[in-house]
Amino acid sequence: MKKILVVGSLNMDVSVRMERLPAVGETVRGAGYWNNPGGKGANQACAAARLGGQVSLLGCVGADDYGAALLSQLAEAGVDVSAVEQVTDIPTGTAFIFTDTAANNSIVILSGANERCTVPYIQRHEDKLRDCDLVMLQLEVPLETVCYVVERASALGKRVILDPAPAPRDLPERLLQEVDILTPNETELTLLSGQNTQEPEQLAEAAGRLLAKGSGCVLTTLGAKGALLSTPEGSRLIPGVKTRAVDTTAAGDCFNGALAVELAEERTVVEAAAFANRAAALSTTRRGAQSSLPKRCEVEMP
Ligand code: ADP
Repeated sequence: MKKILVVGSLNMDVSVRMERLPAVGETVRGAGYWNNPGGKGANQACAAARLGGQVSLLGCVGADDYGAALLSQLAEAGVDVSAVEQVTDIPTGTAFIFTDTAANNSIVILSGANERCTVPYIQRHEDKLRDCDLVMLQLEVPLETVCYVVERASALGKRVILDPAPAPRDLPERLLQEVDILTPNETELTLLSGQNTQEPEQLAEAAGRLLAKGSGCVLTTLGAKGALLSTPEGSRLIPGVKTRAVDTTAAGDCFNGALAVELAEERTVVEAAAFANRAAALSTTRRGAQSSLPKRCEVEMP
């Protein structure tokens, strides 16, 4: 089986529920709080491992309880976390999510130890990069690191998937030229291309702009509608799977993890995206991030 390397973030999501969000200077009573493992890198690695992929993760956590909890959850899912470093002078990345009863939210993210996922850290673990076949990244670790990994991976002949999330205003053109598959959602596509995507035909036009900048292919996720695959030959919709969605947290991460596993199994991008739509649709029927990610047998159930 081909090996997948994920380079990315690990976060603990701390969700606090309350009747009403506090105004500036106000104190309100909370209704409860929950810790949920998250971070796009960790979620995508977890998704790929649950679906049967052979997955290693490069990233950093703090030497604290959150870091230990994140690592044990990933190891349980089957992710090789042996090269994830626990740094002592900075806490694990944490997202504080305040939600009221009407589902409005306010979020504060501390990137913490994710900032230590630096070029020298990657260089200390060059063996992981050499040893894999496919590399998957997102944008929750320093951009300099993302650029370095993509350049190295591409020079070593590895296939590279980049999920440009959270949405950037711009990405270096050099980076796009070395990416084999770019997987934006609609918002990210709009921002990166500078093209309005309100009308369906504008999606292909926007993806075309990124292809023109050098991206190998653009696979835009479209929520319940599925995904649009754009290559220099044209665009085609890979339809989504109808489901009763209750929580779309990490649907995009599930999509990317599933895509990587199927590409590692030598499936075509169209086949891999169809499988990714099925896996991600299933993830939306459950609550949470990593807790919602399905196993292979669940996706393959008739
Ligand atoms: P993100 O979560 O990154 O914003 P999307 O909303 O595009 O990305 O969702 C990613 C993928 O998850 C979609 O391409 C689709 O496969 C699946 N998905 C998301 N929402 C739904 C839904 N309501 N019903 C079925 N599938 C969904």
